[in-house]
Amino acid sequence: MTAPEGGARPAIVTVDDDPGVSRAVARDLRRRYGERHRIVRAESGDAALEALRQMKLRGEQVAVILADYRMPQMNGIEFLEQAMDIFPGARRALLTAYADTGAAIEAINVVDLDYYLLKPWDPPEEKLYPVVDALLETWLSSDYRPVPETKVVGHRWSARSSEVREFLARNQVPYRWYASDEPEGRRLLEAAGADEMTLPVVITSEGEALVQPADRELAAKVGLATVPSGGFYDLVVIGGGPAGLGAAVYGASEGLRTVLVERMATGGQAGQSSRIENYLGFPDGVSGAQLTDRARRQAAKFGAEVLTACEVTGLEVNGSARTVRFADGGAVDAHAVILASGVAYRQLTAPGLAELTGRGIYYGSALTEATGCTGQDVYIVGGANSAGQAAVYLSKAAKSVTMLVRAPSLQKSMSHYLIEQIAGIPVIEVRTCTEVAEAHGDGHLEQVTLRDSNTGDTRTVDTQRLFVFIGAAPLTGWLDAVLARDERGFILAGPDLTTGQRRLAGWPLDRAPYHLETSVPGVFVAGDVRAESAKRVASAVGEGAMAVMLVHRYLERL
Ligand SMILES: Cc1cc2nc3c(=O)[nH]c(=O)nc-3n(C[C@H](O)[C@H](O)[C@H](O)COP(=O)(O)OP(=O)(O)OC[C@H]3O[C@@H](n4cnc5c(N)ncnc54)[C@H](O)[C@@H]3O)c2cc1C
Repeated sequence: MTAPEGGARPAIVTVDDDPGVSRAVARDLRRRYGERHRIVRAESGDAALEALRQMKLRGEQVAVILADYRMPQMNGIEFLEQAMDIFPGARRALLTAYADTGAAIEAINVVDLDYYLLKPWDPPEEKLYPVVDALLETWLSSDYRPVPETKVVGHRWSARSSEVREFLARNQVPYRWYASDEPEGRRLLEAAGADEMTLPVVITSEGEALVQPADRELAAKVGLATVPSGGFYDLVVIGGGPAGLGAAVYGASEGLRTVLVERMATGGQAGQSSRIENYLGFPDGVSGAQLTDRARRQAAKFGAEVLTACEVTGLEVNGSARTVRFADGGAVDAHAVILASGVAYRQLTAPGLAELTGRGIYYGSALTEATGCTGQDVYIVGGANSAGQAAVYLSKAAKSVTMLVRAPSLQKSMSHYLIEQIAGIPVIEVRTCTEVAEAHGDGHLEQVTLRDSNTGDTRTVDTQRLFVFIGAAPLTGWLDAVLARDERGFILAGPDLTTGQRRLAGWPLDRAPYHLETSVPGVFVAGDVRAESAKRVASAVGEGAMAVMLVHRYLERL
């Protein structure tokens, strides 16, 4: 492995197990790109991954990765898949022999491959450079162009520090974390004129210090749009999970002037999934972050506006316009609205939990907190797929993972493949008929009291991390008196609005509501927030697409 050179030039990384080929690729790359890019070469997937991790830690940029397909231990596709988790924005190409073109074509879907190059690539002017030029051009025009990094200084047990990191991570904003009690953290705080009492402090890539910033201020300062550019749209999509992103992609690609409004970060629940195994077209699974990143770029490519940290708090009917109001007092009008606001985690109510939330107790944020779990005894509450995925993910770093499940078994609540996966991981223990009775800790979680729901017996265990995945509820209170919902707050649509032959009270049109149309004409619903929905990524995306088709039908008759 060549030692990385200094400086901030974005890297081109090449990996090939044949030392001769590896040197030849690096030589050709250096000849043309050496001035503006660091050429980093490795002779195995593992060595290249280690180099990528180190570059990530140092805040360096990787523009292009070229990987040989046929390598022992880890082939090029497997390597690129892992490399994507580290540098999702790096453009990727596979070096293959003619006989392996089938594998390369397959890789286009698995690892979002940009190109495959046939070996040998002589002369490079004809066969190698045009491809690398195109990859660099794509990278430079993407959101991953080199930006100096954002820094977060906070306390490891501060709830707001944890929220800020989560916000940045889920919005795919690269940042570096500094604990306030470590020398570099103290130095940054001093430079920012802040102290331990005013944490967290975010230092933007331009060097501006934001003391205890709210999500909206933070979003705006790291380059995310938070206010709409116009006052009237064809379509407003509320919520940026799979359903909302699906609707934005289809709406914008089909010529509708579309704005998507997301209150926190695009990706929704799916964005928090460490590995989605059952989404069509990804036989090897895909992380929620990758899926979200691609969907967001796709929506932007078609011209959809994506607003982040912008909460919708009201919906009104004003003649043929539908007015969507925001928490900051702003509003936009549109011909049609798609509600895709999904569901939010339910909270545990046992004593001590509220006080320690964000200080060792986390709702669904296993991904960003995973690094803090190394070598620890971790507890997970819940028995559904989301809890199972978190257990598998955390088991890679934690000393032990204990799942606390209220039911007598996982069979009814978790997919079979996940139950089998969990059974095969020795560090995971599943404790059934168990619930959390109390949480204890001074400033952060130190102990949890567990209750056996059969016997009522309690026992207290030491732990600093408890992750809670106990189902979710739609947060649709702001739609009170606007449109029809079921008794749990899920939004009714289409056939679910009417019982038998009875007409829907207050429905103003001659026709019946379309399939995903709510009790307000021109307002549609998609994904988990819809009553009787499937609660799956694929169905949410599908409903987003279908809702757009119905919006067109609605607009034709307007
Ligand atoms: C950890 C985890 C793992 C999962 N794994 C899988 C899996 O492997 N396979 C699978 O098929 N499904 C999985 N699911 C379920 C899947 O993620 C959901 O079914 C899917 O995300 C639903 O999409 P949605 O767009 O309807 O809603 P959500 O994903 O809930 O997105 C809704 C979005 O709307 C935003 N929002 C809410 N209210 C407002 C408002 N007032 N203003 C603006 N924005 C608002 C929210 O912030 C959120 O981003 C998993 C879920 C979790 C939590």
